[in-house]
Amino acid sequence: MLLRLIPLLALPLLAQNNWDEPFPPHRIADNLYYVGSAGLSSYLITSPKGHMLINASFDRTVPLIRASVEKLGFKLTDVKIILANHAHNDHVAGTALLKELTGAKVFIMEGDDKVVASGGQGQYKYTDTWKPVKVDKVLKDGEIVEIGGSKLRAHLTPGHTRGNTTWTMETTDQGKKLHAVIIGSPNVNPGFELVNNKTYPEMAGDYARTFRVLKALQCDLFLGAHGEYYDMAKKYKNLKPGAANPFIDPAGYREYVSEREQYYLYTLEKQKKQ
Ligand SMILES: [Zn+2]
Repeated sequence: MLLRLIPLLALPLLAQNNWDEPFPPHRIADNLYYVGSAGLSSYLITSPKGHMLINASFDRTVPLIRASVEKLGFKLTDVKIILANHAHNDHVAGTALLKELTGAKVFIMEGDDKVVASGGQGQYKYTDTWKPVKVDKVLKDGEIVEIGGSKLRAHLTPGHTRGNTTWTMETTDQGKKLHAVIIGSPNVNPGFELVNNKTYPEMAGDYARTFRVLKALQCDLFLGAHGEYYDMAKKYKNLKPGAANPFIDPAGYREYVSEREQYYLYTLEKQKKQ
């Protein structure tokens, strides 16, 4: 089992060369759109009363997000709530700028809220900083964020960060009800200490909890904080009017979660022996 997985072990070292590349914005389901760059996912959840946006990415990504939102026929200033997958710079550094441009409220999961608000203080392992931003609401596990009938549920999936958040929503496509899952990050990054971790001692247990949560979620539309998680570019090519929605991929979701769990367990065992 593990042998088969070895070639995939390099996966968490995500290619960063496409982070600043634009990507065609696209509709994933009726009120769910992709507005991120080629390597950094941002999602727009629309409603007649305003929109929610997941992941502001970097300051330099915000103009790309704006262009994508406008290309889809929406207004950036209609974004009323800014959310995130987790408090690492590639997902939240541009939050202050996006808040300034939209006047939106910022809602962040407990555990990541202080890191986002302080501009990067208190991160495990990383020391990069960004512009501090007011967090208007601290979310709890299971909380529903709602605007104009569009609803997202925040699932605490910690480990990668203390407040790492996986978002789920019920949506529709061509009249069919679908469950979307936007994975925060299940990745054990290089240098993360699952054993004898002095600053984040509960890390290994947090990852274990995350895999339990992810395996229990119902998933039709498989999405995540980076397009690489779900092969976005390839699926996007198959997005054609009248064809099956390529983002519906429950088997791909289960496979991804299972492969990431195997990698976590492999790393845990390896570190225990050191
Ligand atoms: Zn991260």
